Amino acid sequence: VPRRPRAPTEHEWIRRLLRRLGDAGPGVVVGPGDDAAALRVGSTTLLVTTDALVEGVHFRTGWLSPRALGERAYRVNASDVAAMGGRPRAAVVALEVPPGVGARVLDQIVAGFVAAARLHGAALVGGNLARGRALAVTVTLLGVAGARIVTRGGARPGDVVAVTGRLGATGCAVRARRAGRRVALPRVPDRVEAGARLAAVATAMIDVSDGLVQDLGHVARASGVAIRVDAWRVPVAPTCRGRHALGIALTAGEDYELACTVPPRRLAAARRRARGAGVALTAVGVVQAGRPSVTIVDEAGRRLRLRAGGFDHLAGPRRRR
Ligand SMILES: [Mg+2]
Repeated sequence: VPRRPRAPTEHEWIRRLLRRLGDAGPGVVVGPGDDAAALRVGSTTLLVTTDALVEGVHFRTGWLSPRALGERAYRVNASDVAAMGGRPRAAVVALEVPPGVGARVLDQIVAGFVAAARLHGAALVGGNLARGRALAVTVTLLGVAGARIVTRGGARPGDVVAVTGRLGATGCAVRARRAGRRVALPRVPDRVEAGARLAAVATAMIDVSDGLVQDLGHVARASGVAIRVDAWRVPVAPTCRGRHALGIALTAGEDYELACTVPPRRLAAARRRARGAGVALTAVGVVQAGRPSVTIVDEAGRRLRLRAGGFDHLAGPRRRR
């Protein structure tokens, strides 16, 4: 019986597309495949990224106020600019609006967005409004790169792997919500200052949007290294408790903390820099020579197996929310 070829996962499809696109051309400092693209324009390097929040996929109505949705839409994009070490400058927003959602709701979405952007001196400079089947907020954010652009590709064997803040709060909140408990979805942290400061010492950086293990997998592949994560060192959010807490912290995603790799002699400086931006930086693993992979080990050095590797937007009918 001829077997149907397995459909590609989200990241397999993206990798295939990138091979087909080929060389990005002059002026493109960082092409597709990182948290943001970097473009040389005159004497400035601009960063550009885009991200959508779709009702039924990223959130359910009732989980977020319209204002919180606007803030979230801005911050998930700012997170990608932060992961490159840059600072947001200007955004355009495309709204898809289903029947029944009125101007008052849209006003609040925009108000939440603009208030979050203003904290970085970033402006909303345009957008689009279209009728749609589900409420969706798609943002394109322009940023300005700092003196050093940190990609996913610079991790070297011997580097320490570190994360800002704590992981698992959103994953646990989503789980509780699905179980019918009315817990608040945590706000997306603002890590722009931390990213800008860490950029001076980090060899690679990524924001934790798909889950630590999956996102470190992107760093491993882009850098051509193996990554070992020491499970017991992973900082789990205090609101994330129970038997599954560690698994959720490792895989659930949407924490929007920063994961970076740092040479060991710069770890103390990296910690100071993060603290200066108001957040703790915790070493959780090491970069090793070897085929790109992420291995999770317990305190005895035994390999842990995870059931889910992170979120895949192309994976079958499994609904996110
Ligand atoms: Mg990212």
